Amino acid sequence: MYIINSLYLNKIKDLKKIVLLILGMAALFPEPAFSQPGNDPNYKLKTVVLDAGHGGRDPGAMVGKKMEKDIALGIILKLGHYIEKYMPDVKVVYTRDSDFFVPLYKRAEIANKIKADLFISVHANICGTPSIHGTETYALGLHRTEDNLEVAKKENSVILLEKDHTTRYEGFDPNSSESYIMFELVQNEFLDQSLMFASDVEDQFRTRAGRRDRGVRQAGFLVLRETSMPSVLIETGYMSNKKELNYLESDNGRAIIASAIFRAFRKYKETIEARSKYHTQLVENKKEEVKPAIDSLAVSKRDTVDLFKGVVFAIQIAASKRELKLEPENFKGVKYLYRIKTDNIYKYLTSASTSEDDVQNQLKEIQKKYPDAYVVAYENGHPVSMQKARRKVAAEASK
Ligand SMILES: [Zn+2]
Repeated sequence: MYIINSLYLNKIKDLKKIVLLILGMAALFPEPAFSQPGNDPNYKLKTVVLDAGHGGRDPGAMVGKKMEKDIALGIILKLGHYIEKYMPDVKVVYTRDSDFFVPLYKRAEIANKIKADLFISVHANICGTPSIHGTETYALGLHRTEDNLEVAKKENSVILLEKDHTTRYEGFDPNSSESYIMFELVQNEFLDQSLMFASDVEDQFRTRAGRRDRGVRQAGFLVLRETSMPSVLIETGYMSNKKELNYLESDNGRAIIASAIFRAFRKYKETIEARSKYHTQLVENKKEEVKPAIDSLAVSKRDTVDLFKGVVFAIQIAASKRELKLEPENFKGVKYLYRIKTDNIYKYLTSASTSEDDVQNQLKEIQKKYPDAYVVAYENGHPVSMQKARRKVAAEASK
């Protein structure tokens, strides 16, 4: 049973402080540094990283001599085999393809280095109630239930096997509930896509694999936090349930689980590529009147909507699934705040202007408060690449 450190709780009792803490923590999240679906009509999902949980001296969950690391690897190798066989245009990269220890940060590093399009981590669950069974697929975020928090704690605690975990993970204590507050505000461009893939996976488990689907969930998994692409963590079943353990231990069971994930992956690839094409064309053709959900502080609503009608540059300081009040005290005193909702994520911006120079000039100042802040571009309220925004501005100027 976990005991809450009441001293620490007292310290952060003040809600305002919590918000500031969260916003401060948001700076730790990695930024996407490369092209993503949504602004490239020719986007193709090219590389997938398959991550078998645990390995080597880290067995993961254990029931007798049966170990989670073997179940995870068995499923991952089958999944990789299916993708290589049936989707030869997709490159498969494994974080481990046999039984050895891989630190958590290294798993994400492998995916980030090769600019993977999707990261799939496979695990098996365990709990104290033998009757509980079924699958859960997680995207990064704040847990909504204690159960989800427990799963994240258990999976994150593997960092304690890494010698330099305190510095490596900036003092993150996997066993402390307070550590997880930072996941309230996930600075993750890819959450929407992660949730989409997660729901494809759970659908497949339920409809085609005959598993009990315990749903798409969110929790603060460090391995997902470190990745700069859509990423999910799949708990393929409960080892604490005798029947499910036998299934996960069997070659047939692993093949069915792997083929369910494979079908979800194939569907996700098709959807994301088609959606990317459609989105880009929509913005380019301006066939549809675009009404972005924009709000701002210190600038009138009408001026804001006018400003965001054409190409506009701004500094992004945070992103969240949650709608935060546009108050300077919520954003380290930053004024001129804008909130824009795209793909179900709220982006928090400042220093919006039609002049990129004006925005770039503000960046250093903003980065004193938000080191990871960066310049973004929007057209008609939709995010566009910087290159494209510059081209538009240049074309406009030469008219
Ligand atoms: Zn695990």
